[in-house]
Amino acid sequence: MVSRVIPVDVFDLVIFGGTGDLARRKILPGLYRRFLAGQMPAESRIIGAARGELSEAEYREQVRAAIAEFVPKARQDTAIEGFLSRLQYVAIDATGTNGWAQLKGLMRENVVRAFYFSVAPGLFGDIAQRLSEHGIADAWSRIVVEKPFGRDLASARALNAVLARHFNETQIYRIDHYLGKETVQNLMAVRFANILFEPLWKAEYIDHVQITVAETVGVNGRGAYYDKSGAMRDMVQNHLMQLLCLIAMEPPYHFDPDAVRDEKLKVIRALKPVPPEDIVRGQYGPGKDEPGYLVHAENPASRTESYIALKVQISNWRWQGVPFYLRTGKRLRARASEIAITFKQPPHAIFDDASGWHENVLVIRLQPNEGMNLMVMIKEPGPGGMRLMQVPLDMSFADAIEDAEDVPDAYERLIMDVIRGNQTLFMRGDEVEAAWAWTDPIIEGWEARGDRPQVYDPGSSGPEDALMLMHRDGRRWREIRE
Ligand code: NAD
Repeated sequence: MVSRVIPVDVFDLVIFGGTGDLARRKILPGLYRRFLAGQMPAESRIIGAARGELSEAEYREQVRAAIAEFVPKARQDTAIEGFLSRLQYVAIDATGTNGWAQLKGLMRENVVRAFYFSVAPGLFGDIAQRLSEHGIADAWSRIVVEKPFGRDLASARALNAVLARHFNETQIYRIDHYLGKETVQNLMAVRFANILFEPLWKAEYIDHVQITVAETVGVNGRGAYYDKSGAMRDMVQNHLMQLLCLIAMEPPYHFDPDAVRDEKLKVIRALKPVPPEDIVRGQYGPGKDEPGYLVHAENPASRTESYIALKVQISNWRWQGVPFYLRTGKRLRARASEIAITFKQPPHAIFDDASGWHENVLVIRLQPNEGMNLMVMIKEPGPGGMRLMQVPLDMSFADAIEDAEDVPDAYERLIMDVIRGNQTLFMRGDEVEAAWAWTDPIIEGWEARGDRPQVYDPGSSGPEDALMLMHRDGRRWREIRE
């Protein structure tokens, strides 16, 4: 099966921060892949806008180098020249006057205008204001806002208010790249395009849900920045929260941006406050050849968490009494992200089987090896009585497509959604605020108590107390493995 490519309308995409790390690693390589796939109409342009004084030729060479670094070799061919010819560059100062008149001069009538804010969050408001003051953004323009969207409710509200002064909510695309992942969307397809799962998707049949986002890397290189944030702000408030919403939400009446986002918002509003005993925070200690978090963070007194596990409860009919265990951390055993939905045991055991664990688990892998497995119980083959074993029913989509590289990466899919004007996979302002409203008291709680994160070994599964969080409830974490 070959994926269908539907070209989008002609667009001008301005990337503020077009020379930065995210633009080099994700945005520009992603656009190049969409170009190769034939999705980018011939007259479309990409305009890099950043602080450095570069000529157009110099910018194109920078982008050529980024693509050489971040697009697998097989994908690089003479087409790169065609792609580079679409690129322009404007040296601009987000907080000053330099470059804005030139950018305005580049804008064309009757094409989609999108402005990607791939700059430090402190500049989001400045850029929005200047786009509007200089008359560069028109009623059809879209802005794409990177994370982090605020660091608490007050700052998120302030940022929403600044953006709302210059743009309508329908023009604002708050990006959470987890929502662009193939399997995340597949989760919605599995839930809402099949009759099989939805009848079981509730407290009566689901024992608990685990969401894990584990990284092997530490915070070195960006330690000082990370130390002001921590795992709760950096990962849970946005990415893990979005995953939780997609699992827990009611079926929307239509796959339509506001219908989906209304349902997600209801989930966030129904989240219960989390008591201190349901929170475990950790900091990775030193390894054999590498220093620990405190050195990486350049802050020996830091109490910022590089790991967090939480037991989260949703206060509504569907999820009454079903815990959602969330965990995310750095310097863990493996780089692995997954959602596991564990169903309850059958109400009555008819087999005299000693193995104990007779549960169905739906595992949704986000990375690596995106895909889905449904663990089912079968009879262990062969003679010797009725012994049961758990086997995976593989629902991965990788086999259904000829070339896995043709599957768009999260960023490229989301950028194309921006050009199409489809906000379904982007966060609405009220959603982000509701997520902070739930997060703030949790953080304020541990700050007020003066809690210190528990040290864990690099390469482990996280702090001991996180194991206890599950054991206490008679459950266990799934192994973190690639
Ligand atoms: P970066 O520091 O590598 O790049 C910053 C870019 O902004 C550069 O192009 C620079 O020229 C430009 N810039 C800085 N000050 C400017 C000014 N006054 N006027 C105009 N341009 C200016 O940053 P990055 O890592 O690419 O991150 C960009 C955004 O994306 C941030 O909001 C970050 O939180 C977010 N983000 C980055 C990553 C990542 O992997 N790098 C991942 C998720 C989110």
